Amino acid sequence: MVVSVLVEISFNKQEKTFDYLVPDNLVNDIQIGKRVLVPFGKQKLEGFIMDIKENSDYELKEIITIIDKEPILTQELLTLGKEIQKEILCNLISIYQTMLPKGYKAKNKDNINIKYNKYIKIINKEKAIDFINTSKAKKQIQIVEDLLNKEKELKNKYSNNLIKELLNKDIIIEEKEEIYRININEDIKPIVNLNPYQIEAKNKIDNSNKDVILLHGITGSGKTEIYMHLIKEQIDKGKSAIVLVPEISLTPQMISRFTKHFSSNIAVLHSGLSDSEKYDEYRKIKRGEVSIVIGARSAIFAPLNNIGIIIIDEEQSSSYKQESNPKYNAIDVAIKRAKYHNAKVILGSATPTIETYARADKGYYELVSLNKRANNAKLPNIEIIDMKNEIKKGNRIFSSELINEIKDRLSKKEQIILFLNKRGYSSYQMCSNCGEVVKCPNCDITLTYHKNSQMNRCHYCGYAQNVSEHCPYCKNKSLKSFGLGTEKIEEELNNIFDAKVVRMDIDTTSKKGAHAKIINSFMNHEYDILIGTQMIAKGLDFPLVTLVGVINADTLLNIPDFRSNEHTYHLISQVSGRAGRAGIEGKVIIQTFNPDNYAIKYAKYHNYVGFYEEEIKIRKSLKYPPYFFLALLKIGSKTYEEAKNESIKISDYIRRNKSDDMIVLGPSVGPISKINNIYYFQIIIKYRNKENINNILKEIISIENNKKISLNIDINPLNI
Ligand code: ADP
Ligand code: ZN
Repeated sequence: MVVSVLVEISFNKQEKTFDYLVPDNLVNDIQIGKRVLVPFGKQKLEGFIMDIKENSDYELKEIITIIDKEPILTQELLTLGKEIQKEILCNLISIYQTMLPKGYKAKNKDNINIKYNKYIKIINKEKAIDFINTSKAKKQIQIVEDLLNKEKELKNKYSNNLIKELLNKDIIIEEKEEIYRININEDIKPIVNLNPYQIEAKNKIDNSNKDVILLHGITGSGKTEIYMHLIKEQIDKGKSAIVLVPEISLTPQMISRFTKHFSSNIAVLHSGLSDSEKYDEYRKIKRGEVSIVIGARSAIFAPLNNIGIIIIDEEQSSSYKQESNPKYNAIDVAIKRAKYHNAKVILGSATPTIETYARADKGYYELVSLNKRANNAKLPNIEIIDMKNEIKKGNRIFSSELINEIKDRLSKKEQIILFLNKRGYSSYQMCSNCGEVVKCPNCDITLTYHKNSQMNRCHYCGYAQNVSEHCPYCKNKSLKSFGLGTEKIEEELNNIFDAKVVRMDIDTTSKKGAHAKIINSFMNHEYDILIGTQMIAKGLDFPLVTLVGVINADTLLNIPDFRSNEHTYHLISQVSGRAGRAGIEGKVIIQTFNPDNYAIKYAKYHNYVGFYEEEIKIRKSLKYPPYFFLALLKIGSKTYEEAKNESIKISDYIRRNKSDDMIVLGPSVGPISKINNIYYFQIIIKYRNKENINNILKEIISIENNKKISLNIDINPLNI
């Protein structure tokens, strides 16, 4: 017998397998989807059995061992991997590796492990009774008497010394039993009854003949409650469900909303878990012990059988697209898996992406809308403040309006959230003598001043240097800080107000559990004001928050990306959703230098459809998604010349071979021209036909052999 094995190593030929002979004693255990250990050159590598063949005429090496008792990947996941590979042009093995938690890799076995409970129990009753009658060791007699009444008992209940002798005498034995680190065990509460609007929406979902449904409902309209009903129905039919949420909104708050209704029937997968915990959760799923998986992006690969529904909440979140290889989009994967299982995909959002809404608008997806908040809370009143006028009045950070409103909320003992999309103290340091800006030595980007740690840090490569007042170029003592970061806001708040302020950004949440701790203490009103970055924009529900301020709404607008208006709209609506969720009317203050921008204006009136209609016209005239698809090629090299020359070669090749539906832009210097001492160029291709572009790109990958460059391909990139 011969098997084709996909080994864990990258090639230009991205799906290449190697044939190995199966020794006779292993033949019976061979199955597609199991992993094997094989000799490869001088190494031993893990690989997946992809195919089983008759003997071959060639002389082949033998496989060393079979790693898995059961196929680790089902036929569904094996095929799914191949389909994804064809679309995003990554290495097939990288997808299979993404599907599995780290715990399954042999080399990780030491630090990721299975946890056991150790028990002892009587094995020989006669000996036990004999021991009780003859022995003089009172404590041991007590143990034996205790055990005689029970099936077994936890070993650590007794002292080791006492047990040892009983074990040696073969009166008792030790047994171990696998346990999970996370055990959800709650009393199951019934799900709330839906209100008439929710019922109407749910009926539309139930009766739709489309594979994908866009549930477009404002924040607080009760989408999550609809999800629960949909899931419950599938579970009752014996089917399973996947719920994806953005990593950042996988808060204990959110998870407990589900565990309240489904208790131990849930496995949770997110980055807050240790690798061992993830391994535990994955085994629960694989063994069919749970029917619901809630998780971030990679949970879409959960090995559930018989999936009845896949729900993707906050579908506009960029976290569903993996930024590193393999650059898959969990929404595309969800649609493929749903098709296989004959299940529906529900995309939920208050602010869907333009592409998703366009598909729903054109009838490819079912469009279901919810325009009323479930608990009758009013949408917050959004006020736009023109910071150009405020600067004239001398208000550089907070407008007078925002200061007055903060004072008002503090006096009423209500809570406030302030948002700024920039961590650190200031954006950059500039020399007032020579005008130079302090830059990262490895990247073409300014360093951010962090006052707490007295460091200038690069947010791209992690480089850090001590802060100095002296300009690194002219050596004068003339460096000044410009721009705002969350640290500076925190400091200013403490200067101006007598309030308890807590900050939430990457710098304050790097420790495990820090994130949940800040959320809980803010929830318990230990703080009056929460200041933070994107991290606080989504999913949090604090009943006492009645004021939300966006310190600078222009941070996203100023990024040169065709989606910058869309991102601004999303951000403003999301942070607005944090205000006034429980009865008290909320207020949102948006500070901007672009008060006339259409994204900001439509966001003020909560008019998503208005924004969509304006934005889609621009997309059409500029030939951007959804009218054209995009592919982004990044060419990196240690030298500028090499990166540039190879980019020209590649773009020439594409131009010579392209079909009429393609528009090739570039090569141009990357938006950040140097990161970690690698120079980047990029080529953007706009295209309409997926097959044409795939053929060209596949050809490029297979002929590219310049060892001095790296070529990175991103199909449907989220940032360009
Ligand atoms: P969304 O997911 O659309 O933001 P949620 O499902 O979180 O909305 O609902 C917002 C709030 O309204 C939650 O506190 C939720 O418990 C409550 N809610 C939703 N639907 C109902 C209902 N039918 N009856 C009572 N309360 C509801
Ligand atoms: Zn850097």
